Amino acid sequence: MHARHRAVLPDWLTLYYDQPLEITHGEGRHVWDAEGRRYLDFFGGILTTMTAHALPEVTKAVGEQAGRVLHTSTLYLNLPMVELAERIAALSGIPDARVFFTTSGTEANDAALLLATSYRRSHQILAMRNSYHGRSFSTVGITGNRAWSPTSLSPFQTLYVHGGVRTRGPFAHLDDTEFTAACVGDLRDMLGQTRGDVAALIAEPVQGVGGFTSPPDGLYAAFREVLDEHGILWISDEVQTGWGRTGDHFWGWQAHGAAGPPDMLTFAKGIGNGMSVGGVVARAEIMNCLDANSLSTFGGSPVTMAAANANLAYLLEHDLQANARRVGGLLLERLRAAALPGPGPGGAPRPGVVREVRGRGLMIGVELVVPGTDTPSPEAASLVLEAAREGGVLIGKGGGHSTAGVLRIAPPLTLTVAEAEAGAAVLEAALRTAEDRLTGGTRA
Ligand code: PMP
Repeated sequence: MHARHRAVLPDWLTLYYDQPLEITHGEGRHVWDAEGRRYLDFFGGILTTMTAHALPEVTKAVGEQAGRVLHTSTLYLNLPMVELAERIAALSGIPDARVFFTTSGTEANDAALLLATSYRRSHQILAMRNSYHGRSFSTVGITGNRAWSPTSLSPFQTLYVHGGVRTRGPFAHLDDTEFTAACVGDLRDMLGQTRGDVAALIAEPVQGVGGFTSPPDGLYAAFREVLDEHGILWISDEVQTGWGRTGDHFWGWQAHGAAGPPDMLTFAKGIGNGMSVGGVVARAEIMNCLDANSLSTFGGSPVTMAAANANLAYLLEHDLQANARRVGGLLLERLRAAALPGPGPGGAPRPGVVREVRGRGLMIGVELVVPGTDTPSPEAASLVLEAAREGGVLIGKGGGHSTAGVLRIAPPLTLTVAEAEAGAAVLEAALRTAEDRLTGGTRA
């Protein structure tokens, strides 16, 4: 299977694990591989499984809709699409909101950029350093994380702003207030050097691919004041942070209370629970600025809309945001305790592999370093990933500065306390295995 994959798919497609995994089925928070091994899924297919694998409510809704008609086009009225748009518009916090559905986060951000540049008649975009916004020509042009930006060609003039990463970089030594002031100063300085007609700022409230790092709460409120002085729009990329994943808030932008709501937000991933659903929400004035017949063939298809409606209804009925807060909080504590290094050879103290455990709700990052240094360690991340898989837990990795030195943990939002405990125990053992390998020790 692996050989067949390599023979026909692009060389640059990332596959996790020395022996890549073939997932054949799933249920709840678990998936099974082709050999019948069961894994606790702590990454949910990069946050695409929002509630649970094979959630019966979603499966039923998809089956019923597919059994009725698989017709897909935005040329006719489509009840599941209108219903979902009404729900999302009401939840978005954006006044007079209109929703345009796409099939992915990339396409959602493309649409937001098309709207912003058309509305403001400018191709200047502010984006955050270390950001990730998608894989199309336009979205790699506003992606600050070099590992994910394979070309320097771009339809935009993009200006990269400080603030997305709190833990590293020139302002990392500052406290939250000073950090915010420094980033606002940087933004002002940058705008002072432009012609002043920047279209929009696009930002992830918690950087996802970049390693689950968040700015101090309120940073975007402070940015907003500056943006407003110039009429610059704010696009919140909620592809990873939406739907209550961060626990305290339904949308990531809400951590910046006074800043909100943004002018536009984009969503994708979890809302379809594995089906291809994305979209952009914008104030009507912005959404309707296009002089175009803009249709999407598959965006808003009745089957994917049925999945998203059922998934969203389940999320709200079971208050999974509260579950993300509660179980995510426990998992964070448990992982912080697990981060302390085990004893070295002969019981002597030794440097650990964990630099920081951080997170909000069920979006937890564990930043790994070469033991005894502050250097990010993609090697440690790979070792932990392999050991966790051996122990029956799937996690992700990411990180800034072109390294994948951060473990990313983002289980389905129905995660139970018992599953969080079981997963944390496996990760603790995996961290010790990585330390043993990297410090040359062995455990008794
Ligand atoms: N924005 C963010 C914040 C993302 O994390 C991603 C996907 N990792 C995207 C956009 C692109 O979404 P998609 O892969 O669905 O195109």
